[in-house]
Amino acid sequence: MRAIPKDMPTPAYWKTTLKEVEEALELVKGGTVTKVYDSAGGRPIYKVEYGTSNLPERTANLSSALGAKHPECYADKSGDDYIPTIFMVGCTHGGEFEGTCAMLNLIKLIETGTDYAGTRYDELVELAKKVHLILIPMVNPDGRSHIPFNTFVGKSFEDLRYFNQGTWKDGTLAGWPECKMKHPILPYVDYLGGYFNDEGVNMMHEDFIGGKISTGTQAVLDVCRNDAPDFSVLFHGGSNSTACMLDTDYGAKKAKIETFEIANLVKEKCDAAGVRYAVVPISNYEERDPQVSFNLPSAMHHCCGTPCVTFESNQGLCDHGTVIYDHDEIYASHMIYMTEVIRYYLKKFGKI
Ligand SMILES: [Zn+2]
Repeated sequence: MRAIPKDMPTPAYWKTTLKEVEEALELVKGGTVTKVYDSAGGRPIYKVEYGTSNLPERTANLSSALGAKHPECYADKSGDDYIPTIFMVGCTHGGEFEGTCAMLNLIKLIETGTDYAGTRYDELVELAKKVHLILIPMVNPDGRSHIPFNTFVGKSFEDLRYFNQGTWKDGTLAGWPECKMKHPILPYVDYLGGYFNDEGVNMMHEDFIGGKISTGTQAVLDVCRNDAPDFSVLFHGGSNSTACMLDTDYGAKKAKIETFEIANLVKEKCDAAGVRYAVVPISNYEERDPQVSFNLPSAMHHCCGTPCVTFESNQGLCDHGTVIYDHDEIYASHMIYMTEVIRYYLKKFGKI
């Protein structure tokens, strides 16, 4: 195995490990913590929930409700007491734990009023307490256990490739997107990267329609189907991409437009705070040849009908391009993003 690169000193708020997830969950008093499943490797997958949406009982699934042209038969959000639901998921890929850090600090903030660095984010806390919030801070604990350190800030692009996507049997880097040429990848690898659970499954690309899916993916789809979130995000790290969000492939145009509106609001706040953020234009990748994949956010969207997006964080690699965030900018991009997403839905439903 490649030598394990050392972590640079990390800020007090930088919480990304399996143990730190457990520690944050121990703080939860105002919400509920449920172990929803065990991962393929036998590690617990936890869900944290604050509040309730007050959705009335449904009479149809999404497909049937839309077929009837009555989406309210699936999720009737017209009641005066309806509270929007925001669903956030961290660490779908084990080497992409920037969002997990933000989510664990959000839990700390809701429970104690300060984050792990002792900083207050009163506006975020006030908004977060008004929504129905569902968090799965680490949906791929197996993948996280394949990463033997706690930050990619200051590490090399090759470190990311080795530890996140892993290596083939001959020791060469599996790479991206080539690592997706084998699924499950386990029989083909020497080093099983953070991308994958212990069975070598990349949760972004499972056999969603009628096939066997991993427990982590099941946990995510369960929430989308049962809780009908107004907005769902999978936090990813995108090497040194400028922080951005990718809308839902094979998603309804309406959901893509909503995503674009939110992105512009996030961008405005990031600009004001000196944090780099990129607005991605509304996509129509389905028209490409070959077409784009139907991936986990696509599957989520077809359970609940609302925007289900990928957030791509910058990971602070030292040698990959010119956009290099430090821990503070990575953290700030997530805190601003979470604040604006929650604000958007509270406004949409007339709650603020
Ligand atoms: Zn990813």
